[in-house]
Amino acid sequence: MSQSYENTLAFAKKMDQEDPLKKYRQEFHIPVIDGKQVIYYTGNSLGLQPKRTRSFIEKELKDWELFGVEGHFNQQKENIWYNFHKYSKKALAGIMGAKEEEVVSMNNLTVNLHLLMVSFYRPTAKKFKIIVEAGAFPSDQYVFESQLNWHAFHGGNKLFDPVEALVEIAPREGENTLRNEDIINTIEKHSEELALVLMGGIQYYTGQFFNLKEITEAAHKAGAYAGFDLAHAAGNMHLKLHDWDVDFATWCTYKYLNSGPGNVSGIYVHERFGNSPEIPRLAGWWGHKQDERFKMKKGFIPMEGADGWQLSNMNIIAGAAHLSSLEIFSEVGMEALRSKSILLTGYLEYLIKEINKEEKIFEIITPENPEERGCQLSLFTLKYGKSLFDKLMKRGVLADWREPDVIRLAPVPLYNTFEEQYQFAQILKESLAALKQ
Ligand SMILES: *Cc1c(COP(=O)(O)O)cnc(C)c1O
Repeated sequence: MSQSYENTLAFAKKMDQEDPLKKYRQEFHIPVIDGKQVIYYTGNSLGLQPKRTRSFIEKELKDWELFGVEGHFNQQKENIWYNFHKYSKKALAGIMGAKEEEVVSMNNLTVNLHLLMVSFYRPTAKKFKIIVEAGAFPSDQYVFESQLNWHAFHGGNKLFDPVEALVEIAPREGENTLRNEDIINTIEKHSEELALVLMGGIQYYTGQFFNLKEITEAAHKAGAYAGFDLAHAAGNMHLKLHDWDVDFATWCTYKYLNSGPGNVSGIYVHERFGNSPEIPRLAGWWGHKQDERFKMKKGFIPMEGADGWQLSNMNIIAGAAHLSSLEIFSEVGMEALRSKSILLTGYLEYLIKEINKEEKIFEIITPENPEERGCQLSLFTLKYGKSLFDKLMKRGVLADWREPDVIRLAPVPLYNTFEEQYQFAQILKESLAALKQ
């Protein structure tokens, strides 16, 4: 798609006027610093609060006040708590490109990574390797390391070498992102010993979106499972997990999904496993066959679908916040969201390139092709580094700094505007001018 942008305020304003999603900015609380709304670029870290969230939470507080424990079942109550995990399914299925029975909200992301590895990482002395992206998010790295040690030395014998088992794919010398062909070739190269491919959907540092479909295909050809950590892809990319035949995935909901700090995660498990009670898993009462849950009998019988991976009953107050934001996603739909996102990030990229023409300040390490990225751009600062970042923050730009020299900017299509991109470019120019003095 070729898009012609203009470096003028009038153009930015026109883009906002023509934006079919423009009314959604009013649906969010935009933080104010020194009496001015900030330019919020950190929706990839913590999404903003939807204004409707408060009423969703207040409703559950009211029901708790009115019904006490009866809130779980009382039919006068609109959304009984007993079924609360079901209320997010429809929206999540739309966001993930999954069937409703393939998704469920539960726990937090790192916990879910562990739980899903219990089911999908079943190493043997022959097939034990895991392929991951180099420089994965630290929490994921600790998951891999601890899972590998757990399996390698389980029962006192050494089943395999845990260091050899972790295959990390890194960019080629002089490159910032991974080539799809390198990922596929690595999978093929290790196929005999490969048990699992487990990568980010979007790499949190570079913003690169991987080809989930082709990676999954290659993993299956190698007789391995393919799973993805979608922390940075959920609510950002137009995903089609079921059609891409992905085995499992998990994500957090406080980034692009705006559910509030530390809020619930979600999982996806392809239906071919969800309806196989023999798939090993760690069990809890909330994953037990629903009509027998309160019989409190021995013998775990999992619910069908992703629900069978639940352990505990849902955190209702937090779950209400999750539902409030999902309602917005259902109204908008991922297709419309992505269409705007491509334009918005494209505009930011264009403006940065315009500044680079005068003096090369940034190397954009995020892929240029919109198909290979979400809304985030990661800028490697060739000059001024952290002092430039500090200047931007002082002038009302809320962005994020990653060592050694990267500024991450995530214009979020639900609440960021084209005019903000233009304003950001002006602030950037002013900050650069100030640094040169
Ligand atoms: C944000 C993020 C996490 C955070 O994990 P929590 O369990 O939610 O604290 C983990 N992995 C990735 C890739 C992330 O981006």
